[in-house]
Amino acid sequence: ATPISIMVASGRGAQAGVLFRDAAAIEALHRVDTLVLDKTGTLTEGRPALRGVMPLGELPKERVLALAAALEQASEHPLARAIVTGAREAGVAVPAASGFRAQAGGGVRAQVEGRALALGNARWLESLGVALDGAAASRAEHLRAGGATVMFLAVDGLPAGVLAVADRIKADTPAALATLRREGLRIAMLTGDNATTAQAVARELGIDEVHADVSPTDKAAVVERLKREGRRVAMAGDGINDAPALAAADVGIAMGGGTDVAMESAQVTLVRGELSAIARARALSQATVRNIR
Ligand code: ADP
Ligand code: MG
Repeated sequence: ATPISIMVASGRGAQAGVLFRDAAAIEALHRVDTLVLDKTGTLTEGRPALRGVMPLGELPKERVLALAAALEQASEHPLARAIVTGAREAGVAVPAASGFRAQAGGGVRAQVEGRALALGNARWLESLGVALDGAAASRAEHLRAGGATVMFLAVDGLPAGVLAVADRIKADTPAALATLRREGLRIAMLTGDNATTAQAVARELGIDEVHADVSPTDKAAVVERLKREGRRVAMAGDGINDAPALAAADVGIAMGGGTDVAMESAQVTLVRGELSAIARARALSQATVRNIR
């Protein structure tokens, strides 16, 4: 690789909103045949909004929302912002929390007013010993089928409510996927979110390969498996939860505006967080590699 062509590619990339870490990143992107995409914050805006709150126990709806917001105040997750904003808009008073702990791909825990609270997905809450009954499960499944992400609130180990949050697909996502498909890339979704929610979003985008319900460490394992199957994998993501998968991919692509950890784990950063920049980055890498050879 001539330093000149690499420099030219880097400069043009920066203009197109693409930062390459090094020359190897430019070359590797050119060889990729599969693009794995995180859902929340990558295919979607990552600014989900609260859509509904339903009590599952004695506590009224406003109380469920207030406790959920108390838990999420300390979290940086997009779902957390949706809940805190939703509580503010509903005008409920949010109590203070202590002993906050977050489980990536699971949820959050803390003490609020002397009670042990947990908020997160069904799988994680069940791993904490919270029993969710059939009525709770069917209510959640109905919300997911509409594309919402569902979280359960538990108070002292008992289910207290369901919160539904939904996110919009980024404006440039459908066109960017069409371009990338036309170039022969295989597109897959990789998400920590529930399979029903993931399928609803994937269907809207015409994505037929979906890996859902995947924990942050398992995201990397999925990428490793695709590589073992002989695929050359680029992975794009925005979150702390994506960092191991970005590092495992042949090319890790971080969405600018996402978390620093994602950008540190990736070889390519899309400055404006637009998927359409991936097509521009590939075109650049192809032109550069052609010049080199
Ligand atoms: P994605 O892969 O779509 O970006 P994540 O791996 O970040 O999603 O999260 C997966 C799931 O874990 C979420 O859909 C949610 O159910 C749960 N979760 C993660 N963080 C939180 C949080 N701060 N509050 C509630 N639930 C959370
Ligand atoms: Mg994400």
